[in-house]
Amino acid sequence: MTEPHRRGVLARWAEVLPLTPQTPRITLGEGETPLVRSVAIERELGLDELWFKLESSNPTGSFKDRGMVVAVAKAIERGSKAVLCASTGNTSASAAAYAAHCGIEASILVPEGRVAAGKLAQAVAFGARIVEVEGSFDDALRLALEVVETQPIALVNSVNPDRIEGQKTAAYEICETLTDAPDALAIPVGNAGNITAYWKGFVECAALDYASLHPRMLGFQAAGAAPIVQGAPVENPQTVATAIRIGKPASWKTAEQARDESGGLIEAVTDEEILDAYRLLASKEGLFVEPASAASVAGLRKLNRAGALQGGRIVAVLTGSGLKDPETAKEHNAIDVVRAPATLEGVQRALGV
Ligand SMILES: *Cc1c(COP(=O)(O)O)cnc(C)c1O
Repeated sequence: MTEPHRRGVLARWAEVLPLTPQTPRITLGEGETPLVRSVAIERELGLDELWFKLESSNPTGSFKDRGMVVAVAKAIERGSKAVLCASTGNTSASAAAYAAHCGIEASILVPEGRVAAGKLAQAVAFGARIVEVEGSFDDALRLALEVVETQPIALVNSVNPDRIEGQKTAAYEICETLTDAPDALAIPVGNAGNITAYWKGFVECAALDYASLHPRMLGFQAAGAAPIVQGAPVENPQTVATAIRIGKPASWKTAEQARDESGGLIEAVTDEEILDAYRLLASKEGLFVEPASAASVAGLRKLNRAGALQGGRIVAVLTGSGLKDPETAKEHNAIDVVRAPATLEGVQRALGV
């Protein structure tokens, strides 16, 4: 008998998650995402091995599903009939999907403007109650925290420890696939829940003897939204990478712990560097990711230019799908479409054959 493919995070990683017999074993087929070897950027960077963890392969197109499946299952176990989150887009898409799957309500607070079209389309399709807050993501998160103080609604932002538990499973999968931890992990940092979760996962893997080493955690913020790098909150964060457009990360302290305990770093990359990596991933690797995901590769390239990239085996987390943000794709790629009459001659001329 073969195991069914993609059993879901709750079934696959039950032994390392805070589940009880009462936790509903829900799944949309999240987790067990591909780990793909680089064909071009590995060579450019002179690395022994560069791998991409394709978190865009999760059901709603981002890693948020790993944590959300745990958060929603635990919310239902505790009797919640509704979930709430503040979101730059992907958390809300994921919360709305799992809520729809479970027949409970999802309400989402999004900052005004600049939520990528694909993410909003998902929340709309899944039937979430969408509130556009006239403020930033940080305002929306503060208000969400205040709302749940007086309402029986489960907050499913990454301040919810169940989210971190679910997201740490990506580190377990990497250790399982490579049969050890990598030397370093490159990851974009926004609200800093994911770098926190990966570090927790890698520390557990080493303790359980699934890995012989701890990777250096290499976190990258966008230059216009780099509070951890600057050591102070950013009032009005700006970046093309909307998923990491966050000025006051909720998991700031634990991100610094991950950086320091692992001997890693958290640095900033400019929008130009992010977009260069974004185009390179698509055109040279065949990987179409959203701009925030490209920050991990932009960071590795920046370290390499500065002579600060140590070799070995590196995994870059590609956090979300490029299909989330079609506007950025159109705006930041040279669109080269040739019109042709609907004749063989016309099409041959257009093709230059
Ligand atoms: C949420 C998100 C991030 C940032 O993760 P944090 O846990 O907020 O640091 C990066 N990329 C994508 C695609 C995301 O959805």
